[in-house]
Amino acid sequence: MHKIDIDLVEMTMDVMKYTIDRISATEREIGKPKSEFELKSIVGETITAKGIGGEFAFNLWKEHLMKANVPIDHPRHLAFVPAAPTRAAIMFDLVTSASSIHGAYWMEGAGGIFCENEAMHWMVSLTGMPQGAFGVFTSGGTAANLSAMVTAREHWRENDDFRGEKGLIITSIGAHSSIKAMAKVIDADVILVDTEDQLLGTELQEAIDNLTIHQRKRLFAVVATGGTTNAGIIDDLQGIAAVCANENLWFHVDAAYGGGALVADSVRHLFNGIEKADSITIDPHKWMFSPYDCGSVIYKKPELAKKAHSQEGSYLEIFKDEGAHGFNPADYQIQLTRRVRGLPLWFSLATHGTDRYKEAVERGIELAQMAGKIIKKLPHVELVREPSLSCVLYRRIGWNPEDYTHWTYENHEKGFALVTPTKWKTGDTFETVSRFCFINPDTTEKDIEMILDSMV
Ligand SMILES: *Cc1c(COP(=O)(O)O)cnc(C)c1O
Repeated sequence: MHKIDIDLVEMTMDVMKYTIDRISATEREIGKPKSEFELKSIVGETITAKGIGGEFAFNLWKEHLMKANVPIDHPRHLAFVPAAPTRAAIMFDLVTSASSIHGAYWMEGAGGIFCENEAMHWMVSLTGMPQGAFGVFTSGGTAANLSAMVTAREHWRENDDFRGEKGLIITSIGAHSSIKAMAKVIDADVILVDTEDQLLGTELQEAIDNLTIHQRKRLFAVVATGGTTNAGIIDDLQGIAAVCANENLWFHVDAAYGGGALVADSVRHLFNGIEKADSITIDPHKWMFSPYDCGSVIYKKPELAKKAHSQEGSYLEIFKDEGAHGFNPADYQIQLTRRVRGLPLWFSLATHGTDRYKEAVERGIELAQMAGKIIKKLPHVELVREPSLSCVLYRRIGWNPEDYTHWTYENHEKGFALVTPTKWKTGDTFETVSRFCFINPDTTEKDIEMILDSMV
């Protein structure tokens, strides 16, 4: 017993040291994947009847396996939607694990769920949704979008006229791939309005007017995007809200990436109309500096989500009886057993205060504006469009798609930066262009200049 205790203390110290070193490092490696074959030949058998021992396994992790990842918090990682979880949030993610809280029902997770809800009240306040609106943390934007779509569809099908109908959703080609993917899950069809730029209320109205009578009957929801993942474009939420109200359609705003910018005074007005949404997706693991994984879905009328998602089972009844005194996250999204994954966000918000969040998000927007100005001055690059939120699309004059790919790999190979190309659609043509997405407040002007210089 004594021996085990000493081992445990040592391992705890090792893990804490690793964690502290990792989150306080000023110089980090970008990291590169290796093939499964290579990794296997380096580490050998790791799962054996007797075990290889914690120290040995941890060393394999530190020496080899961790290095085969591409951590997303490097200041020159500007691909996809990067991340920059706060130290407070990361440390509390460890606390969340150590606390073994089942986050489905208040009966078991009251203290943790209370904290999640504190953070959620703040998020709801950013949206300006009416009294009664509330939300729940999910594994990510995909699960949040699915939870919202299920709620919308169930609510729609409560009406006998629609009971046997297959649902139909309208969104735009700028919408995230998860909308189409989750429409498959609920067996609904999707009509995409062909604009990668801002989806306007008038364009939505036109799309609705062009539906057949049966399609119009099947249409139950519209998904607008509050910050497209590719370009940071916010749809005309006012206009779309008005059309949805008029046509009696569920209005969902997918702000998985852009939602963090609701806190930023400089761009808040671009989201006007979001307060009219029936549901909103926001990912704290994108622009609210939470570790993976943490998404969220907010509903104007949470009771509709409860009708759609609440699970029943004889062994769950006890939770319902006791839990009726509190908020049961399991009732508002697709997952039953869940981590109280909003806890790290709560601790970070409580530690730093919401003003720091405002500053950190404004910094991402400022970096995008800064990059735009630098690009305008340089002869070898030009903007594809003005920066939007923290996304910048630009082209290297004279490059073809292979040049972009080659440049990306070269920079990654050198451990210098990760900036990946994307496509931008104008009319019928898709152009390969370069893209920055800024999240990490530690990214500097110098980082941007060095990256652009590497394109000369
Ligand atoms: C990232 C993103 C998603 C998907 O979120 P996950 O957390 O990756 O599941 C959905 N919608 C938008 C707009 C996004 O940017």
